[in-house]
Amino acid sequence: MEHKKIIIIGAGIAGIALARHLDKRQIPFEVIDSGENYSSRIAAGLINPMVFRRMAKSWRVDEFLPYANEFYMEATKDWGQTYFHVLPIRRAFAHQQEVDFWIKKQAFTEYQTYLKPLNEADLNNQDVINTFGTGEVLNSGYVSTKILLDDAFTWLKNTNRLRLEKIQYADIDPENSSYKGELFSKIIFCEGYHGLENPWFNYLPLQATKGETLTITSDTISRTESLNRKCFILPVQNNVYRIGATYSWDNPTLHTTPEAREELIELAKQLTKSEFEVIDQSAGIRPTVLDRRPLMGKHPNFDSLYIFNGLGTKGYLMAPLLAHEMTDYMLDEKLLDKEIDIQRYQKRLL
Ligand SMILES: Cc1cc2nc3c(=O)[nH]c(=O)nc-3n(C[C@H](O)[C@H](O)[C@H](O)COP(=O)(O)OP(=O)(O)OC[C@H]3O[C@@H](n4cnc5c(N)ncnc54)[C@H](O)[C@@H]3O)c2cc1C
Repeated sequence: MEHKKIIIIGAGIAGIALARHLDKRQIPFEVIDSGENYSSRIAAGLINPMVFRRMAKSWRVDEFLPYANEFYMEATKDWGQTYFHVLPIRRAFAHQQEVDFWIKKQAFTEYQTYLKPLNEADLNNQDVINTFGTGEVLNSGYVSTKILLDDAFTWLKNTNRLRLEKIQYADIDPENSSYKGELFSKIIFCEGYHGLENPWFNYLPLQATKGETLTITSDTISRTESLNRKCFILPVQNNVYRIGATYSWDNPTLHTTPEAREELIELAKQLTKSEFEVIDQSAGIRPTVLDRRPLMGKHPNFDSLYIFNGLGTKGYLMAPLLAHEMTDYMLDEKLLDKEIDIQRYQKRLL
């Protein structure tokens, strides 16, 4: 008997990471995508293990980072291109308190993977406009997002597991587990911010957080590290860089705005004295959550409906391991961490 397929709705980094895990387990699946991505293709793909505001490690980074590294390396073996690039981040301290925090944290074993002990050269760094000194973050980097997603699409197309269409919720019958009359075993919504419209999961506190980035050229900005203070300047190829990113909650469209352009230019000028020229601007919409934790799990009333969403600002760091946890949850009934399980919002459904 032929196994019924799993359907993944959405081919952003969440859907793609899940597809790779199902493929590894040889589970039949199909990915349906509308072809209009809102976040994963626009993202700069920065992997930053630190939250500078608190000078603390990013949530679960000790687990996420090595797993993500391996995941992108495996994709490289399968599809032939380098997706994950190791690149230090140079943090230009915003105030003296950050320097003090850094010095305190660099002494802890658990921070030695990420914070290089400050030295004279860091404090006198000339690559950035530098009042309080700078510090170097280790084990950071970035993912070539568009190249990765293009290669993932090609893989899915070549194996007849990609359908390019926008699903209409009315075509899904959760009682009988069917889509357009075709039976499936599970359907997993990886729709990014479009999850806001999902009639089964719209009780969850998903938010649409718009972000804009600039692409610039410069002959003099450092190419060996990304710069950071209030914005990032990330070298992506030769003399091309991305500057980002803005945050806004009141305009969830893909239109770029002159305000965001001015804001990013101003922030970049506060970080570097180098001349640069803006050559492009893009806008996307992050799927963020009130408590800053992903939304994962099974619908309380429909056993075949699942969600993998809410990756927020760090999708490229978190998606690989979370997709693994989601796969184990769906196929082996392994429990999800309480912090990510949508059961934490059960009361909203009542
Ligand atoms: C400006 C900006 C900068 C960012 N920078 C970074 C960064 O540096 N590092 C980082 O890790 N993260 C970054 N992010 C966040 C990152 O992009 C997200 O965490 C991640 O991409 C979310 O992935 P996703 O797959 O959940 O959603 P999405 O990428 O939005 O994918 C959802 C997919 O579902 C499809 N879909 C939705 N509804 C339907 C439907 N009805 N039918 C068919 N298909 C449907 C869409 O077409 C889309 O392809 C950034 C985001 C933005 C906007």
